[in-house]
Amino acid sequence: MTRSSTLLKPVDQTLLRGEVLARTRVTPHMLRVTVGGGELGDAFVPRGADQWFRLFVPRPGQDALHLPPGVDLKGYARYLTMPESRRPLLRNYTVRATRPGEVDIDLVAHGELHPGTVSAAGWAARCEVGSPVALLDEGTTFAADGTHDWTLVVAEESGLPAAAGVLAALPRDAHGLAFLEVPTREDVQPLDAPAGVEVRWLVRDDPHAVPGALALRTVTAATLPAGRPYAFVVGEQALPQGVRRHLVAQGVAKTDIAFCGYWKHGARPGR
Ligand SMILES: Cc1cc2nc3c(=O)[nH]c(=O)nc-3n(C[C@H](O)[C@H](O)[C@H](O)COP(=O)(O)OP(=O)(O)OC[C@H]3O[C@@H](n4cnc5c(N)ncnc54)[C@H](O)[C@@H]3O)c2cc1C
Repeated sequence: MTRSSTLLKPVDQTLLRGEVLARTRVTPHMLRVTVGGGELGDAFVPRGADQWFRLFVPRPGQDALHLPPGVDLKGYARYLTMPESRRPLLRNYTVRATRPGEVDIDLVAHGELHPGTVSAAGWAARCEVGSPVALLDEGTTFAADGTHDWTLVVAEESGLPAAAGVLAALPRDAHGLAFLEVPTREDVQPLDAPAGVEVRWLVRDDPHAVPGALALRTVTAATLPAGRPYAFVVGEQALPQGVRRHLVAQGVAKTDIAFCGYWKHGARPGR
């Protein structure tokens, strides 16, 4: 995660172990892994909106999931010093949907995979039913309090699960605009949004373009509705940073903008 606005963390954080229940392809660039069972199936608390979590999965060749002893900073430090033969892969993801005992995770099947490295995208493409996982609930960043005139939602495909959750959580009489960038027309998904929220899909159609650049250009050139907005902006870090800067320059209060850099283009793969 790069920069973000305030996080609304759960009070009690516990690592919940479970397993893969199903793996499907939602659209050409989005894989869905359904997890549940064990502690995860019994104890996961759905919070709606952009609820996100830390996902622990085994690296290729690991037959068991060795979790850090705790979830505080000390536990994270212990995780970082685990030998790679034992250390699980740890990445951040969003709850796409829940059903009793089950959580859907939508993972972008991104192409920028470096030879010799491991990634959550690679795990999603090859995991099998019964593969072990663990989730650590991290809460939400969306914190609109109902006093705003309209809602702005902006994301590229890595933020599509969060955007979908935020749109579904809005009151049904909410007004607003959503700019959602996807790689191809086939990556557009049906979403549950209030009738008063206009969803504009932005299709990149250029495999070399940096995700989020089209959305940033479009939002900064758009005529936005009058009144006080609450903005939710996530994705490749230049997108939330750029949209936030633009909105603040237009007079939007920083506290009315929930934003999070989800990943960084050109960054070295995570550990
Ligand atoms: C709060 C939060 C919620 C998130 N929710 C989701 C979610 O629901 N679904 C989702 O798909 N992602 C989500 N992300 C983003 C995800 O954590 C990152 O994309 C992560 O880097 C993917 O890990 P990886 O192991 O596949 O790739 P890494 O090993 O981290 O990176 C490998 C290479 O791929 C590049 N890369 C990483 N992500 C992308 C991408 N999306 N497109 C193109 N290139 C990429 C990196 O720059 C790097 O060069 C979320 C991030 C945060 C902080």
